[in-house]
Amino acid sequence: MAPVGGKRAKKGILERLHSGEVVIGDGSFLFTLEKRGYVKAGLWTPEATVEHPEAVRQLHTEYLRAGSNVMQTFTFFAGKDNLESKWKEVNEAACDLAREVAEKGDALVAGGISQTSLYKSHGSEPEIKENFQLQLEVFTRKNVDFLIAEYFEYCEEAVWAVEVLKGSGKPVAATMCIGPEGDMNNLTPGECAVRLVKAGASIVGVNCRFGPEISLATVKLMKEGLEASGLKAYLMVQSLGFHTPDCGKGGFVDLPQYPFGLEPRVATRWDIQKYAREAYKLGVRYIGGCCGFEPYHIRAIAEELAPERGFLPDASEKHGSWGSGLNMHTKPWVRARARREYWESLPLASGRPYCPSMSKPDAWGVTKGTAELMQQKEATTDQQLKELFEKQKFKSSVA
Ligand SMILES: [Zn+2]
Repeated sequence: MAPVGGKRAKKGILERLHSGEVVIGDGSFLFTLEKRGYVKAGLWTPEATVEHPEAVRQLHTEYLRAGSNVMQTFTFFAGKDNLESKWKEVNEAACDLAREVAEKGDALVAGGISQTSLYKSHGSEPEIKENFQLQLEVFTRKNVDFLIAEYFEYCEEAVWAVEVLKGSGKPVAATMCIGPEGDMNNLTPGECAVRLVKAGASIVGVNCRFGPEISLATVKLMKEGLEASGLKAYLMVQSLGFHTPDCGKGGFVDLPQYPFGLEPRVATRWDIQKYAREAYKLGVRYIGGCCGFEPYHIRAIAEELAPERGFLPDASEKHGSWGSGLNMHTKPWVRARARREYWESLPLASGRPYCPSMSKPDAWGVTKGTAELMQQKEATTDQQLKELFEKQKFKSSVA
């Protein structure tokens, strides 16, 4: 037992999930820090851990305050393949920053690795695994609490990542950046989940590339695949903070607005409350976000699931569920907005004349359904397009 007044040992990730707790992940780092001037779009590498540690620390702090239980090391694309001689100090600094902030609250530190640039250029399995191994050595030395292999579009590479991470003996989560159509080798989400669990992942799911609805539809397919194989794992979702109903197989990177014109697609906090509730209903207990997912979106997850978790996050002091803070507004018509029904049924407006609701992805990977839909776009009104889209929407989407 911890001495009186001493620090209580934190429950580990699997202990939390096993006891039925909801674990709230964090949100966007690259996209958010790019907007703040600390990350270069294109390569999307996290040198900011060394160059501007105060910016990374501040963002971790905002997620902690918003209710995150996991401080993921800012180590996306931070393998030797991308960062060359800088890889080590960037990973070490990322671990120290995540730990420093995690110690200020009820959060764990997760060491994160992601897809390599080697896989697509036909790098060998040993070469790719060596790249992961180097990052893992830093995570082990810095004693992170668990590990996440994320943003894999090829199941094979994700399996290699899990195999390496398992070697540490720490719990491993694995998320792929795929939609309902599966990975880039045409493996279904269900099959991907099965392979990741067989490789040793205790938590599986998706992150990035697709918005809340599609991400949940994909996790549902993973869940069904696991059930059909008689395998058990915890489910995880870290969706984009953008709506992407018109994406093809490759996700938001193929949209013409990627990455600098995505603002009209940003999810509201109310959209994210819905996402959190639907994820919970689906049985997902690790719920967070990826690109475009800001601290206030994480707070929305924590507020939606406050009845289940039994508490609100610190950042809710300045919010109040469902806009209740507006009670204090001087204008009566604004005061009238301090209620759930108002925000839940509000029709949104972009404020941009002739702003279409959908666009056509630039790249290959457009789904058959979406392609047909887009061909008809010229001849149809927005309303008809919407109806067509609704009809063709992923059948597996969460009700
Ligand atoms: Zn992302």
